[in-house]
Amino acid sequence: MKAGYTKLIHGNKNYEKYFVVNWCFFSICNFKCSYCPTSLHDGKNRGLPLEDVKNFCLQVIQHKKDKKVFFEFTGGEMTYYKDFVALFEFLKANGADTGLISNGSRDLEFWQQHKHLIDHICLSFHPEQGDMDHFFKVVTLLNEVTTVHVNIMMLPEKFDALMGLGRKIAAQVEGVSISIQALFEEMSGDIFPYTKEQKDLLDKPDLEVGSDIKYCRTPKLERKVYRGEMKKVFPDGTEEVVNPPELIAQGENNWYGWNCNIGLENLVVDFYGNVKRGWCGVGGDIGHVSDYVFNFPTRPVYCQTQNCYCGLDIMAKKVKVF
Ligand code: SF4
Ligand code: SF4
Repeated sequence: MKAGYTKLIHGNKNYEKYFVVNWCFFSICNFKCSYCPTSLHDGKNRGLPLEDVKNFCLQVIQHKKDKKVFFEFTGGEMTYYKDFVALFEFLKANGADTGLISNGSRDLEFWQQHKHLIDHICLSFHPEQGDMDHFFKVVTLLNEVTTVHVNIMMLPEKFDALMGLGRKIAAQVEGVSISIQALFEEMSGDIFPYTKEQKDLLDKPDLEVGSDIKYCRTPKLERKVYRGEMKKVFPDGTEEVVNPPELIAQGENNWYGWNCNIGLENLVVDFYGNVKRGWCGVGGDIGHVSDYVFNFPTRPVYCQTQNCYCGLDIMAKKVKVF
């Protein structure tokens, strides 16, 4: 691998058209996965008032007129926010794109009624409580109108069945991207006890489930992908495509002393409504969603931390400072 690059830029010009707001919204969830941090499903944070949320979203949309704003909500299970429908209708009516990460467990009627409000959904199959047949039906239904990414959480004792679910989706649902995910103990952070064969498959999930799923299928509808691969740019003008998991796996996720575009290309919001440039926390809290006038960052931030672990944070342009 070539060393000495001086810029990390988006690997696809389309990504530059989007401003992304990633919002860790609340901690209400109908599942209680053993590997999930309690704070993400304990129900203690129940979501901010709809009017505060709308106020902030509208400010972002109006301030970023030259971009399409993509709001992605995580939690918790976002579909249990009491004003989920009103919020998503508001965002769509104001020209934004909407997305969420969901366990997919709401019934088919719910998804049928609301699928038109969702531009992108990351459906995660959680095998301790999820139902494979239901999940497959939800993936199929939503894929008709929205961009779907599937994560399958690989519980060791159900490994073969979960691989079967991945292969079934790959074979029968056109245009879906799929990722099989290793699990880590919530308390110790240790990886679950996989056999060597299972570990080998987890180390090369694309090969096993089929890299054709991600790249070679002909999509039935326009796939909306907001962020993805990045490119290293070298002083001689040559480029090399990389993706965040690769950079992390190879220990190349350190841009200490570089200028970074978090806050200019994206914002993140926590449970309490605090707004930051990125999940790394560099630059600190820069406002709150209830601010009457939110002050948007106007310049890149100088990176002052050694490790950059969040995918969204990594997927912002970075330039080496000399
Ligand atoms: S579905 Fe997601 S948020 Fe809910 S308990 Fe499981 S991992 Fe946590
Ligand atoms: S840690 Fe934060 S500031 Fe540093 S490169 Fe990553 S996203 Fe940018």
